[in-house]
Amino acid sequence: MAYTPMIQQYLSIKAQYQDAFLFFRLGDFYEMFFEDAKKASLELEITLTSRDGGQNERIPMCGVPYHAAKQYIKVLVEKGYKIAICEQVEDPKTAKGVVKREVIQLITPGTIMDNQSLTPKENNYLTSITAFDDETFGFAICDLTTGEMKVTSIASWEGIIQELAAYESKEVVVSSSFDETASKELSQRLGVTISFEENAEIPDTLKALAVTIDQIKMQQSLGRLLQYLVKTQKRSLDHLQPAEFYAVQDYMAIDPNSRRNLELVATMKDKKKFGSLLWLLDKTKTAMGGRKLKQWIEKPLLNQTTINERLSCVESLIDHYFERETVRECLENVYDLERLVGRVAYGNVNARELVQLKQSLAQVPAVIQSLNDIENDVIKQLADRMDPCDDVKAIIDKGIIDDPPISITDGGIIKTGYHEKLDQYRDISQNGKAWIAELEQAERKSTGIKSLKVGYNKVFGYYIEVTKANLRHLPEGRYERKQTLANAERFITPELKEKEKLILEAEEKMVDLEYELFQEIRSHIKAHSKRLQELAQLISQIDVLQSFAIVSENNQYTKPVFTKTRAVELKESRHPVVEQVMENKMFVANDLSMNESCDTLLITGPNMGGKSTFMRQVALSAIMAQMGCFVPAERAELPIFDQIFTRIGAADDLVSGQSTFMVEMMEAQYALSHATQNSLILLDEIGRGTSTYDGIAIAQAIVEYIHDKIAAKTLFSTHYHELTDLEDRLLRLKNVHVSAMEEDGKVVFLHKVLPGQADKSYGIHVAKLANLPDSLIDRANDILKELEGKEDASLTDHALSQNTVSEDSEQLTFFTEQETNKKQTSISSKESQIIKTLESLDLL
Ligand code: ADP
Repeated sequence: MAYTPMIQQYLSIKAQYQDAFLFFRLGDFYEMFFEDAKKASLELEITLTSRDGGQNERIPMCGVPYHAAKQYIKVLVEKGYKIAICEQVEDPKTAKGVVKREVIQLITPGTIMDNQSLTPKENNYLTSITAFDDETFGFAICDLTTGEMKVTSIASWEGIIQELAAYESKEVVVSSSFDETASKELSQRLGVTISFEENAEIPDTLKALAVTIDQIKMQQSLGRLLQYLVKTQKRSLDHLQPAEFYAVQDYMAIDPNSRRNLELVATMKDKKKFGSLLWLLDKTKTAMGGRKLKQWIEKPLLNQTTINERLSCVESLIDHYFERETVRECLENVYDLERLVGRVAYGNVNARELVQLKQSLAQVPAVIQSLNDIENDVIKQLADRMDPCDDVKAIIDKGIIDDPPISITDGGIIKTGYHEKLDQYRDISQNGKAWIAELEQAERKSTGIKSLKVGYNKVFGYYIEVTKANLRHLPEGRYERKQTLANAERFITPELKEKEKLILEAEEKMVDLEYELFQEIRSHIKAHSKRLQELAQLISQIDVLQSFAIVSENNQYTKPVFTKTRAVELKESRHPVVEQVMENKMFVANDLSMNESCDTLLITGPNMGGKSTFMRQVALSAIMAQMGCFVPAERAELPIFDQIFTRIGAADDLVSGQSTFMVEMMEAQYALSHATQNSLILLDEIGRGTSTYDGIAIAQAIVEYIHDKIAAKTLFSTHYHELTDLEDRLLRLKNVHVSAMEEDGKVVFLHKVLPGQADKSYGIHVAKLANLPDSLIDRANDILKELEGKEDASLTDHALSQNTVSEDSEQLTFFTEQETNKKQTSISSKESQIIKTLESLDLL
């Protein structure tokens, strides 16, 4: 038995969209069938039913109502799925046989345009990669909602991962010949949706977007991206801006792990913005400013001139309080121009949004005025380039009423006086309605029925309603009965119907004409997309700069100065986020000094002493400085770092299933193989994931390697006390420690970073505080002395570099009471282990 014609139609369309859910329009529902239905019912938690499809077995089916589809689409897209929207493309009333249906749009994670599914302050990026034999990749990126497009070429696969992570791209388009392992890595590590497009030719209609790109690889990645957009969106892409070339090397490189570790845009714990650097710095007033800020955090600059320009703007905005506050007030009333323009061009803007566009434009002159009052050339230039687009504002103002409805197909949008014909229809409709209102009075008078009403409903149109009790007062003949209710009857008269016809005709024409006029206005505005986009760009920049100014002022940050000597000098430096979220606001500021004769800081001190916080604040200060923001310190001198590498905290690379130590080593390897003299490296407790000797050996070798071969500025925290001796041998290495003290029998962490190494017997101190037995503490002190004696003895005969064997390091942990018992056993076993090891060694 064959399937019914409709199911056949479904199957032939579905065959072209294998990797998407096919939302098949049936009346007021989008239905899904077969496997799609089974999967969607699970993902969307909707009921799975079935339908007769012409065969013995029924077909699995589930559906979502047309009017609520957006929210279901959002759920699926967030899970990384694609949805093909299949509509009826002919009127069911006139159709012969099965109504013709077509896919009108493919909605994907990287192309979704619906406001409900977008985060205002985040871009939504679609990217495409073109791979080549020589390992150079073409890389193109687009935010369909804003029209922004960029291309670059990337020299390594790691670079691709880094770039995708920086943009948090949701979807990547590749050719089907793209390496399968590679695309798997992308979807597993970065959670991106992979899509395929074979054609890498720039579509004819969009040739203008590629004007500045002459390199073939980049052209191909852009071509692939555009082909994919054309095929999935099936509509005007006029708002896309010409692709802009950028060089990866122009920005500070931060690998994905470091981004996570430093909590730039989300915290490690719950992946939320709250608690991240982005959260701290975001005092932007507009959605576009919010997106721009995120872009700047994700890509700090290397060009000192540009950085200094931004810094000078921030400084001036701090100094010019009133102007800045005026700008902020204006920006408060600026809507998301960039996405509004996108929606205008894309064709899904409504009248209310056009009014938002107008209101936003109305703010611009005051913004320009205030900016011009600030004495700063860079700001003045920004203001000069701002085009208030008065003509666009006027188009909207002339045509669209101030408080239009959301629907654009039901009329009530266009102002009176805008269009003669429309005004005429409105007159007819209004006069007709007035006539009807008068009719009610006249009928009441002539019949003497005071409760007589003229009403309207969709089925019968206008009618005269008389209660049953009053029916006897109605004269015979003139009234035609239409409907009987429980206690009333409804009638019509020929003249009432005649008037009704006029009114309804006028209203229908009015609604159609309004829609036509609305579209006309929309296309007028669309012609000015480029100007509006340019304006949006400038506003978003000012918004970020004012946000920097506010945060810098409120939190007493300082303008950084860039050094050519690679020296880092931070006075009273703080961790920008920790200092804000600490309950008692008692963050201890610290100094850091690494001049030309110091490249490595070895940081020792107890756990919880503040080592990793200190390291992070240095990295964050460097990133903030290179974004063009002031930094949390009293004075800050920094070089321009080309890259930042971190290995901090517990690795949470669960996906790959590697051991913590392996991950640690891989991250170290990554840093070692990519860092230059101009990089910043943070290594926190390297080697902790393996046995002590192993750990020390590896840690020391890494410190030596970086010190001797790379000479990058490096902060290295460790609880291996042994490493502090390196200061004697490695010329550019300096010891510092985080201090702690004992007070009323408690350990107090001072969080102060001081010169020199941590107190060696600190661990035993802590053990004592934790009430370990006195005899054990005495014994530990003896062992320590013994070990120190042996170490000294060994040093006399051996070079330090060969001294890879030494005591079990003090794990300077503060034991909590509950842990005491457990630790007690572990210490005694450690103790015997130490003795055993020492006995087995020939130290002389
Ligand atoms: P470590 O890396 O030495 O184990 P952390 O850097 O993780 O220590 O810091 C431990 C705790 O101490 C953190 O929760 C932090 O809130 C607090 N802390 C760190 N540095 C400071 C500081 N400079 N001032 C105040 N509190 C700090």
